[in-house]
Order: sequence, then C-alpha cells, then structure tokens
Amino acid sequence: MQHNREAFEPAACLWIGASWTKMARRSLLSRSFSLNHYRAYDVRGLFNYNLSCCVNALLQSFSATTELLDILQKWHPPATIGRNNIPLQLKNALCAMRDTSNPASHKNLLDCLYSHNIHRFTQQDADEIFHIILNLSQKQMLDQDLAQEIRSLYDIRMETQLMCSECKYVQRVPSSYFSLPLAIFEGVNTLERCIQSFFQRQNLLDGDMCYCDSCGQKQPSTHELKLVSLPRILCVHLKRFRNVGGLTWKLFSRVTFPETLNMGIFAAEGQSENVVSGSPQADEHYRLYAVIVHIGYAMSGHYIAYIRSTQDQTWYYADDRTVQPVSWSIVQSSYEGTETAYLLLYRKMSRNASGEQ
Ligand SMILES: [Zn+2]
Repeated sequence: MQHNREAFEPAACLWIGASWTKMARRSLLSRSFSLNHYRAYDVRGLFNYNLSCCVNALLQSFSATTELLDILQKWHPPATIGRNNIPLQLKNALCAMRDTSNPASHKNLLDCLYSHNIHRFTQQDADEIFHIILNLSQKQMLDQDLAQEIRSLYDIRMETQLMCSECKYVQRVPSSYFSLPLAIFEGVNTLERCIQSFFQRQNLLDGDMCYCDSCGQKQPSTHELKLVSLPRILCVHLKRFRNVGGLTWKLFSRVTFPETLNMGIFAAEGQSENVVSGSPQADEHYRLYAVIVHIGYAMSGHYIAYIRSTQDQTWYYADDRTVQPVSWSIVQSSYEGTETAYLLLYRKMSRNASGEQ
C-alpha cells in the first residue's frame, strides 16, 4: 500500500476530517435533498467511533454483499472462541446491520480490528483495510471450506506471463487478487481504459530486463497479465494515492465508471493460448452495487459509501450515521475532485437474464 500511515496525524485528521464531512454534507444538501433520517431505509447508519469512517464505509459494502453474510451464517463457531476473532465479529456486525431500527453498534468489530494493529484515531486506507478484513476472515475461520468460499467470492485469478524476446520462452506465474489495482492517469480516464491498460503488454528493456531460464541470462522481455477466472464480486481499486519522494499525493483526475461493466471483453483480449477450463467468456457482465468514496486529501480525509440496495434497487448515501437516498447522478459526482470513488464493488450478473447471480 502506498499510503503512509504514519503521516496521518490524529489531531489533523479530527479537525480536517470533520471539516470535510461538513463540506460533503453541505455539498449534498445543496443538491436539493432533504436530510431524511436513517431509520426510514434498509441501509443502516453506523456510529463513528474513534474516526472509524473507513471501516464504516467498508462495512456498508460488506453488508450489501449479501453473499458474504450467507457464508458467515453457515458458520457456527464454538462458544469458547475469543472476542478477537474477526469472522465472528464481522458476522455479528453484519447481523446487527440487518436491524434497521437504530444505528448499528459495531464496536466489538472495531475493538477486534484494533487488537490486530489497526490503530484508533488514524486515517486508514480503505483498500488496505478491505484486504486485512478478508485475509483475517479466512485465516481465523475454523471451517476451511467456508474460508475457501470467502476467498472464492472475491478472488480474481490471473497469470503473469514473462516472455523472453530472444528465444520466446514463457515463464508463467499464477497470482490472485482481492481487488483489481488500477493505475489512473492525469486528465480524463474511463474505467474500461484503466482496465485495458492494466492488461496491456509491456516491454521490459535495459534495467528492467528479466532473467530467462532458457537463455541463462537477462534478456529483453515482455510482461503481460492474463485473466484466468473472475469472481462473483469484483472489487476495483482506483489507485488515487501516489508516493513521490516520500510524500503521498492524491490524484483528483476524472475516472468515469459504468453501472454495468462487461469484463468479458478484457478476458477475450487477454486470453491465454492455453485456455483454462472455466475461463472468463466474452459476456461477463457486472453491475455496480457499492462505491467507497474518499473525501479530502492524501494526508487527511473522510470516507463515505454509496450503496445500491438489493431490496429497492435505490442508491443510498451512507455517511456514518446518516443515510439518505440519492440519484445515480449524485453517485457519478464521485468521478473526480476531492470527493472521489476509491473502491468500486461490482456483482456478476447471470448470462441468461438481466438479473444478478
Ligand atoms: Zn530466452
């Protein structure tokens, strides 16, 4: 992760984070929405404990990932299991969020995360925390079959192919991702273009040359990533934070993203010659259902989430305790600027119908 955690001063975060929160709310309200109470909706608000906005926004996305709770509910851990067990506390927090009568308390989950070196009063990086929660959920899940189900739900499997430009020998290395880490560029980007760039073949020359096992020496090579399989839940990480000379900067560039995304076109373009059984096909459509938004700058800020309800298909704005319905055009306002989409959660749609799997 490129974020410099130490750079986030608690005091600065408190002040600037609160300042940005107010600005964000003012900004939303100025778009002629009435601020309704969270109790009216099926997306549930969350208390902010010790600057927990990052975990709160992620929890909204986990709660909207009904497949995750379905897996966790199949698990019945022994009563002797410790309070510091992440999958247990995640399950409890997600169950509490199903009750929409009050803002949910997820304090036990936060205490559990703190016991695993996630610090209080610190601005966290949402992609990093997303990975920590999923990795610990698998590691601490006593039922290995269910742990594998959690992995499979998010697992993007790829193969790195390094080809020697001299002898054409290809080294293949399997890799696995919970989120697709996309570089973004100055100016205007589209999500599809960023994905295309991720899978683009790169020439490795001069200092970047790779050792070829066949030639027995470093040679000019090409580097390429091929999609092996796509998960039901596809998390896209827009890498807006860049470290330059020890300082972290946020890129405010415009990145448009669609509500419906066809990953099949990238699978077809990047298809390996040795097609693996179950490989992605040309029509792998995904529908957006959660957007984690970072508000502010690299060194301080705030997280909120936009969630598309599975019950009424409406988009909701979730900012800690505050939840209110919003239009798709408001979600699109996170394309650029200081209030920008950072993680995008897409759900695979079935091939034979417009519904989601
Ligand atoms: Zn070679």
